[in-house]
Amino acid sequence: MKRSIIVGNWKMYATSIADAHILTTSIRNHVADIKDVEIILAPPTIWLSEIAQILKQSRKTRLAAQNMFYEPDGAYTGEISPLMIKEVADYVILGHSERREYFSETDLEVNEKVVAAIKAGITPIICVGEKTKGSTIGQPLKELQEALAGISKTHHKDILVAYEPIWAIGTGKNADPAYVAKVVTKLREVVSVHTPILYGGSVNSSNIASYADRPEIDGVLVGGASVRAAEFVKICKIWSETKSLQPRAKEVK
Ligand code: PEP
Repeated sequence: MKRSIIVGNWKMYATSIADAHILTTSIRNHVADIKDVEIILAPPTIWLSEIAQILKQSRKTRLAAQNMFYEPDGAYTGEISPLMIKEVADYVILGHSERREYFSETDLEVNEKVVAAIKAGITPIICVGEKTKGSTIGQPLKELQEALAGISKTHHKDILVAYEPIWAIGTGKNADPAYVAKVVTKLREVVSVHTPILYGGSVNSSNIASYADRPEIDGVLVGGASVRAAEFVKICKIWSETKSLQPRAKEVK
């Protein structure tokens, strides 16, 4: 069966350990019975260890870091290495547009991080997307090709891709699901059938069903709405219910 994945990117929200605790516990308790969807929480890195403890008994919810450095160790003040992330999380978001914009991350750095994540046994969630609505899909395609430079196809099952048009992130202007499906189909040519491709950009409980309706889309990356527990849980439930109404996708060989 095809995987269904929902990632909650907390960005730099949940600014106290108490808030992070309440949010995690509430999500953990309410998603336990949701079927056939993998849930990944990406809190601020400083809360990862604490949250890993809260989720210890939960087989449903996994953890992601929001970023990492590509060197395994060394004199890199302020950075966090793949080996450190691996202790507490299974996934890492890489190449998020906010990192590309505010921290000048380049395609080459994203590629170095993707290589380092795979080497460390962490699944990278590679974010790609165009800046302007209506532009060609050249930018996300190029970003994905460059992120995967030098990575053999055998590793494509070890990555996740998130198509996140920048104009849709945090703007309330979510992309048309039919358009997203078209872009996802194009991105799919670069990766393997085993690579889940998600959509991200102003996803909420009112529009989630329209993405779940598209068989091309394997999940969503949720930003702002993921730090409101009830809203995030609702997104996960609607996704699961909508997918369950569709004919079961065959096992991909
Ligand atoms: C994101 O953080 O990648 C994101 C998609 O944010 P939002 O859902 O708030 O648009």
